[in-house]
Amino acid sequence: MSFQYIILNQDLSIKSDHSKSLSDAARPNCAVIGIWGLSEAANLSYLGLYAMQHRGQEAAGIVSSDGQTLYRHADSGLVADVFRDRCVFDNLPGNAALGHNRYSTTGSSSTPNVQPLLVEDRAGPIALAHNGNLVNYSDLRRFLVEEGSLFRTSTDSELFLHLFARSRAKSLINRLIEALHIVKGAYSLIILTRDSLIAVRDPLAFRPLSLGAKDDGWVVASETCAFDLLGAKYVRDVQPGEMVVFNDNRLESHQFAESKRTAHCIFEYIYFSRPDSRIFGVMVDKTRRRLGHILAERHPNPPDADFVIAVPDSSNTAGLGYAHQSGLPFEIALIRNHYIGRTFIEPEQRMRDFGAKVKFNPVAGVLRGRRVVLVDDSIVRGTTLRKLVRLIRGAGAEKVYVRISSPPIKNPCFYGMDFPTREELAADQHSIDEIRAYIEADDLEYLTPEELLEAVPHSSGQDYCTACFTGIYPVAVNNE
Ligand code: SF4
Repeated sequence: MSFQYIILNQDLSIKSDHSKSLSDAARPNCAVIGIWGLSEAANLSYLGLYAMQHRGQEAAGIVSSDGQTLYRHADSGLVADVFRDRCVFDNLPGNAALGHNRYSTTGSSSTPNVQPLLVEDRAGPIALAHNGNLVNYSDLRRFLVEEGSLFRTSTDSELFLHLFARSRAKSLINRLIEALHIVKGAYSLIILTRDSLIAVRDPLAFRPLSLGAKDDGWVVASETCAFDLLGAKYVRDVQPGEMVVFNDNRLESHQFAESKRTAHCIFEYIYFSRPDSRIFGVMVDKTRRRLGHILAERHPNPPDADFVIAVPDSSNTAGLGYAHQSGLPFEIALIRNHYIGRTFIEPEQRMRDFGAKVKFNPVAGVLRGRRVVLVDDSIVRGTTLRKLVRLIRGAGAEKVYVRISSPPIKNPCFYGMDFPTREELAADQHSIDEIRAYIEADDLEYLTPEELLEAVPHSSGQDYCTACFTGIYPVAVNNE
């Protein structure tokens, strides 16, 4: 059967301001999903991407396979917008599919960078979706360009395909393993060919990747909240340095790299992942509550505080943990408008304050004359938190005591998370008291890195990346 390369949507325009970003929040990484051996695989991928929309809102895409040909539909925008026309699924046939939600961490947000990437290899079509970031991207890309490689995107993810294509190994699996031994950094990868689906996790397992079963088929996804929507059952995590290959009715596991320890991104527990997901083997909700417990235990509320409130939605769980431990009531005092996108997806700097106001509205009847503990998950620049404190005070609160369920962010991330530059990080430039004054809070306390590590689960060999707090990078980076 001759190879047919089909791109169903090549609209090069960027349709919405989801592709632009200015933010006071850490920008999350991406989501990947793979479906194997299930009818309507593309539709199932769509549902999984929908459940994982929080991990990337710039672009979405799906590639499906009917065993002969790969079919692709991808574009800039939210999942519901990219797949608004249900006829799209008629053009994504087959029992296997691969999906991706994008938030760019390397490369611009232009349409050629939208994943899954789909290329023609000498063995047939191959599609790839990547969550993470490669730290030796610049060096490898320079080398490959000098060697004559032509890149069609500015993403680090394309490196996998070039390295794979250059390998002289015989089998597809060995070619891929050769490529994986060259790259360094964070990667949870899913690859689709005409007759196989391959899931790979880097040896330090920075990003989550879980394996689920549904009927006679399989689902692989960044977060298990996707399984819940699909009715799939969590089986296990893809292990650090493991490659799982689905082929016919078989599942094969290859350990392509030895892994003595992990470097799970601890920020997945603080903010990125949904509380109803199981990440690194543990429910996020449970760990996030524990962050709140320890925060309340080590950084208790002032005695005159009336109740605890949280910045919705990402800080609700830690806020509840704080309230339980402190014995204070938990109140809903900030109402979030869910229909405008995240605060960081704003078109221009001058719109930022407006964006925070549009997104959150204080409940004056709850706040008037009260002294509140406000729990937030993290402070990046501090600009949105300052706006929120002003809103809460403007609604009549007498005191606003701020508690942060993570340590001060002092360093950039090179493993798939897009913080602003070091100079823009509030904690790199300022003391905690200076940040308190800037956000106009009555007091401000953070978890320490030690307290954070105490709050997260530890099983044998399980360790975490804490580089953005501690500056200790588990994989050396050149561009620091
Ligand atoms: S530097 Fe921070 S955000 Fe990046 S992987 Fe490490 S813990 Fe996660």
